[in-house]
Amino acid sequence: MCADPLRLGILGGTFDPVHLGHLASAREVAAAFDLDRVLLLLSARPPHRPDHTPAPIEQRMEMLALAAAGDALLQVCDLEVRRQGPSYTVDTLRELARIHPAAELFLILGADAYAEIDTWSRPRELPRLCNLIVTSRPGCACDVAAVPPPVAARGETRYDPSVGCHLHESGHVVVGHPIHGLEVSASEVRRRVALGLPIEHLTGPAVARFIHQHQLYGASAH
Ligand code: ATP
Repeated sequence: MCADPLRLGILGGTFDPVHLGHLASAREVAAAFDLDRVLLLLSARPPHRPDHTPAPIEQRMEMLALAAAGDALLQVCDLEVRRQGPSYTVDTLRELARIHPAAELFLILGADAYAEIDTWSRPRELPRLCNLIVTSRPGCACDVAAVPPPVAARGETRYDPSVGCHLHESGHVVVGHPIHGLEVSASEVRRRVALGLPIEHLTGPAVARFIHQHQLYGASAH
């Protein structure tokens, strides 16, 4: 999988389940940064969520495939599924750089996820490996006007007022990007499923059908 596009976006997530907010973010960032492809990278064993037991990896992968079907921009990426142990983004970026030596990498993160970046494994390496695109998250009062680089990488970055973002010495940017997107979270989808409320408008019909067929998140089969 993962052939060689020149400008490669990476949207990582637990995707428990994938929803239309994820897809809207991927598409908006791709349009704004002229990306050839966006990998939907399943974080199979997220180290930051020991308190939450997600749906089985195989089912989250199947839902991602359903969500990405028919959209040439989006590609499901299973690198972290095939790797043993916790899913560290820095390892995945290194692997992607090996697989796609000619590609420029753009890691796409919602501001909520980026707020935790200093707790990730080896945060100093991240802006060396890729551009960091931090999106607003519809419904959240998060400011993406001047996104700072990871603390550990501050010695290697400088703010460039002419472009309005931080530049890493590698040439990569750390930049905030406001999106229109969709106000939805996976927790809200799970909550609605458990209450028997409709979710098609938040997940699309194929993922909603899958959730009910497999009785995920407390769903009863239709
Ligand atoms: P949960 O509600 O379980 O925390 P989530 O909806 O945040 O899940 P994740 O799979 O954890 O989904 O998110 C993956 C990435 O997508 C993160 O960078 C997150 O910030 C981003 N993201 C999630 N929902 C949206 C949204 N509605 N708009 C923009 N970005 C989003």
